[in-house]
Amino acid sequence: MYTHNLKNFDPDIYASVKREQKRQEEGLEMIPSENFVSPAVLEALGSVLTNKYSEGYAGKRYYGGCEFIDEVETLAIERAKKLFNAEHVNVQPLSGAPANIAVYFALLKPGDTVLGMDLSHGGHLTHGHPVTYMAKIFNFVRYKTNADGLIDLENLRQMAIEHKPKMILVGYSAYSREIDYEAIKKIADEVGAITMADIAHIAGLIAAGEMNNPVPIFDVVTTTTHKTLRGPRGGMIMCKEKFAKEIDKAVFPGFQGGPHENNIAAKAVAFKEALEPEFKEYARQIKKNAKILEEEFKKRGYKLCFGGTDNHLLLIDVTTKGLSGKAGQIALDKAGITANKNMIPDDPRSPMDPSGIRLGTPALTTRGMKEEEMRVVAKWIDEAITNWQDETKLAEIKNQIIEFTKKFPLYPTL
Ligand SMILES: *Cc1c(COP(=O)(O)O)cnc(C)c1O
Repeated sequence: MYTHNLKNFDPDIYASVKREQKRQEEGLEMIPSENFVSPAVLEALGSVLTNKYSEGYAGKRYYGGCEFIDEVETLAIERAKKLFNAEHVNVQPLSGAPANIAVYFALLKPGDTVLGMDLSHGGHLTHGHPVTYMAKIFNFVRYKTNADGLIDLENLRQMAIEHKPKMILVGYSAYSREIDYEAIKKIADEVGAITMADIAHIAGLIAAGEMNNPVPIFDVVTTTTHKTLRGPRGGMIMCKEKFAKEIDKAVFPGFQGGPHENNIAAKAVAFKEALEPEFKEYARQIKKNAKILEEEFKKRGYKLCFGGTDNHLLLIDVTTKGLSGKAGQIALDKAGITANKNMIPDDPRSPMDPSGIRLGTPALTTRGMKEEEMRVVAKWIDEAITNWQDETKLAEIKNQIIEFTKKFPLYPTL
C-alpha cells in the first residue's frame, strides 16, 4: 500500500504548488481565459480515474474494466447536451487546440479553404495562424472587424462569395462583442460552407444564457472547459447528429489515444455546477463587472478596442497612455495584477510587444468581487499604467492588493 504523500515525499514540488496557490490567492487574476475551479472539480481531477485506459467510447471500449468509466463519460455528455442544447457531444479532446484540430481533420480535406477571423482582430492561433501546422495543411483566409469594431458581415459575405470556403469559422479570444450566428449561418448557406464556432472563451456565459448560443444553429461548436465554464483544463466538441460519426472518429483513433477520464469526470462536475441557478448569477456578474471596468476606463480616457464589451473581457490600447502592452503587462505584474499583452486590430507593433492589454473578469468574479470592487480594481490598474516606471508606487499597490484579496479567500486550505 502506498504510504507517502506529496508533502513528505516531494517537498520541492509541494513547496512550488503552495507558492503558486499563494500567488493565486494574493493577486488579482485578470487574464480573461483563466478561472478558479471548485474543490469538487479538483477532487475529481486528482482521483484514481487517472489510472484507467479507456480507448474508444462508452459501450465500445478497447479495454476491459470500463464500466464505471462509461458511467462518468456518459454523465459528462448528458450534462453538456443539456447545458448547450447539443445533439451530439464528444468530451475527450485534451484541450481547445486539439478539439479544433480534430474538427478540421473530421470535416476538411488538405488544401480546403477556411474563412476565419484575423488574429489581431480577436481570432485564435488555432484558426490557421501561419506559425501553426494547420496553416500548412489547410488554406485559411481572414475576415476582419470594421471601423466600429464589429464583425464586418458584408466583408465576410464578399469574402465567402470570392473564396468559396469549405468552412466558416467564428469564435474568438480577444473579441469583446456579441456574435450574430444566424446572420453568419445565412452567409454560409449561401456559399455551401460548414459552420464552426469556437466558444472557448465565452462557453460559461453561453451555458448560463447570458450570450447567444451557436450550438442549435451551427454545424460544429468547439470549446475549452477551463475558461468561463470554470471546469478543468480540457476541450469539448458539440455537433449536429449528421457529423457525429466523423467527429468521434477524428478524435479517436484519428488524433488522440486514451482519454483522460479523471479530467472527463472533472468536466462532468463542472457541468453540474454550471446547471445550478448560482452559475447563472455568476455569469451575469461576470458581465456586470466587465461593464463597470469599461465605464471606469472610458472615464479615465482609455481607448477600448471594439468600442467596449458585451462579454467578460476588454481589450485596451495602452499606447495612448505612452507605453506598450508589454510594458503595461510588466507594470501590472509588479502591482500584483495578472493580465496579458495582446495585439489590437491591425496592430502596427509586434506580437511580442503589442499595443494592447487584455483584461477579464471571470476569475475575480469567482472570488465574489462585484461592482464596488471593480471600481477599486480599475483605479489600481490605471495607477499602475500611469506610474509604470515608478517601482515604489507599483510595490505600494501590490501591498494594498495583498491586503484586499484576504477578504476574498479562494480555497479552504492554505
Ligand atoms: C483558449 C482558446 C483555444 C485553445 O485552447 P487550449 O486549451 O489552450 O488549447 C482555442 N480557441 C480559442 C478561441 C481560445 O480562446
